[in-house]
Amino acid sequence: AIINFGSINIDHVYQVEHFVRPGETIASTHYQQLLGGKGANQSIALAQAGADVRHVGSIHESDASFKQALIKKGVDCRGVKCNDTPSGHAIIQVTPSGENAIVLFGGANQTITADTVSAALKETSSSDWVLTQNETSSIDDVLKQASDKQLKVAFNPAPMSDSVKHLPLDCIDLLIVNETEAAAITGKEALDEIISAFQANWPDAEVIITLGKQGVKMLRGDDVISVEAFSVDAVDTTAAGDTFIGYFLSAYCNHTDARQALIRGCAASAIAVTREGAAQSIPSQQEVDRFLAK
Ligand code: ADP
Repeated sequence: AIINFGSINIDHVYQVEHFVRPGETIASTHYQQLLGGKGANQSIALAQAGADVRHVGSIHESDASFKQALIKKGVDCRGVKCNDTPSGHAIIQVTPSGENAIVLFGGANQTITADTVSAALKETSSSDWVLTQNETSSIDDVLKQASDKQLKVAFNPAPMSDSVKHLPLDCIDLLIVNETEAAAITGKEALDEIISAFQANWPDAEVIITLGKQGVKMLRGDDVISVEAFSVDAVDTTAAGDTFIGYFLSAYCNHTDARQALIRGCAASAIAVTREGAAQSIPSQQEVDRFLAK
């Protein structure tokens, strides 16, 4: 199984004529409530890709319907606790040109403790993977405890913050970053320098750098595997990274060859960017198979 310690957010999406200015009150022309959070998106992508995924997280008891939505997507949610802390949520303003401005509140995502982690990792098997992002509390415990149990540890430090550098990064087997995160972690700007820095400072971990429509590079020791992105008409790149991670990891955990797993990740995320939205844009396995057969 893949045990994902991840955020579950409620995205409140408001269409507005322009972003609200200081002191101003404006009416929204359309409102939608959607299941979101990088953690939930990645669990959904893993489940859509056919992986056995267990989500560990927390939401407010009045939002149990969002847990049901995850279960309906095929995610094992026995590790999702409902408590009395407000659910994590995002207030998202979207303008007619598609730009967004977001206020994020961590809420229940920040109530994960070291005890939550040890309870969730009590019954594991040696083939299990642990995955986490940077939207929940006690990430250091997740990395340390999983590594102590000799489970494979995958980390996606998104959204990037200064605290990431202080985490026990030596516990990580697989680091998945986009260009911004890769630059922040290594302190380098040019891609070749970023790659050299990872190879020099992190020889034992595998590192995947996603490069948007440039595709993806995977570093394994001195080897660099490059896979190009598929050429599509992108309309909304939200959750591209989450879709890539779910589809890549599902295949890779199942011992698919690294290049083939990268190609599946790129195909699934290429489909996702041709559709609006986050979780709702993540394709099914059949759609990915059909896309690759073309
Ligand atoms: P993030 O969403 O985390 O910033 P990226 O933008 O690097 O991550 O996108 C993740 C993956 O999604 C890329 O490696 C690529 O395979 C795919 N992707 C993203 N944008 C496009 C695009 N415009 N066309 C095709 N594939 C894309």
